[in-house]
Amino acid sequence: MPFFSQARSFTELWPQISEHVNAVFDRGKYSHGRQVGQLERAVAEYTGARHALGVNSGTDALVLLLRAAGIGPGDEVIVPAFTFFASASAVSMAGARPVFADITADGDYAMDPDSAADLVTERTRAVMPVHLFSQLAPMDRLQDLARRHDLTVLEDSAEGIGMRWDGVHAGLLGAGGVLSFFPTKTLGALGDAGMILTDDDDIAQQAAILRHHGRMGKTLDHIAGISNLSGVSGTNSKMDDVQAAVLLAKLTRLDADIARRRQLAEAYDERLRGQPGIHALPRLVPRPVRSDPVFYVYLVEVEERDALVEHLAARGIGTETYYPRPLHLQPCYAGPEHPEGSLPVAEQACKRTLGLPFYPDLTEEQVDVVCGAIADFYAGGADR
Ligand SMILES: *Cc1c(COP(=O)(O)O)cnc(C)c1O
Repeated sequence: MPFFSQARSFTELWPQISEHVNAVFDRGKYSHGRQVGQLERAVAEYTGARHALGVNSGTDALVLLLRAAGIGPGDEVIVPAFTFFASASAVSMAGARPVFADITADGDYAMDPDSAADLVTERTRAVMPVHLFSQLAPMDRLQDLARRHDLTVLEDSAEGIGMRWDGVHAGLLGAGGVLSFFPTKTLGALGDAGMILTDDDDIAQQAAILRHHGRMGKTLDHIAGISNLSGVSGTNSKMDDVQAAVLLAKLTRLDADIARRRQLAEAYDERLRGQPGIHALPRLVPRPVRSDPVFYVYLVEVEERDALVEHLAARGIGTETYYPRPLHLQPCYAGPEHPEGSLPVAEQACKRTLGLPFYPDLTEEQVDVVCGAIADFYAGGADR
């Protein structure tokens, strides 16, 4: 059983997908064409965003969002140490410096506002909360922090589609956010694609210019017809229409997929509760307002992770380690200002966390198989 598969839903959705893909071929515009525009409008409607801009990946969306928000050389951006590499590398790519905060000990794997507060200097321009795995970061406390120090809030909401805080979609709680449509994500394409979400007209305008070589145009949603004059040095980060076509079809069942993910998370919870060797199951930390979770990953904390991974692999069960190394200890970011041991909660999470097979096509029987194999491992002792 693979860690991720969408073979069955893909087959079911094929009639809709092929209709959209054929429309791309008929029209002959394969990049930032009609399907991309349609997807941008559909995602704007789904999320409530004033602007949704399709780009090449979630990583590009972060870089362009940061640049469009005016973050650049000389600026510092506070990011959590426990997250996907791109949360920090995007800050570096924008020319600014990522500064690493620890995560909370609550079980939400989110940036700890107290740790972040200690890192604010006169160069700090923004905080970038990351919404990981199943729920939003503590946005009330992070927004308080930003207000106190006059910082911009930019969300790495790459995993956040469908997550809402008091009705507001992830990515729209501060100045802007992003979505990743990497294949394994809750809404996944068949390759790379991403989006910038914002309610801010200036950020949207600037991001639209930056994604197309900095070319100055009149409108946000139409690259065609733009003049050839570049006011800033931008990049080429457009979305492919074939990816947009796939995503348009998959968007129609996103809410059903999210509900199915929730069922599967409950099925895992039920079978793993009390299981020796498992330190923690995904925990939804109470929030001061209604916060809608979405299980993107089913993440447990385990003892003897490497041996367990091997045991499961030998039974054909795929797993994924989220994230094996905290960002402040990555070779490119390591330094005496944050040695090993300085961000203990993030460091411990990196040693214990494990993602189990999790996607809407998974069956309860497969969940049984995974949990049975885990039970065998911890019951087996020396002769497993
Ligand atoms: C997936 C992801 C990204 C990057 O998105 P890509 O589309 O893979 O470039 C960034 N941040 C987080 C937290 C992610 O999970």
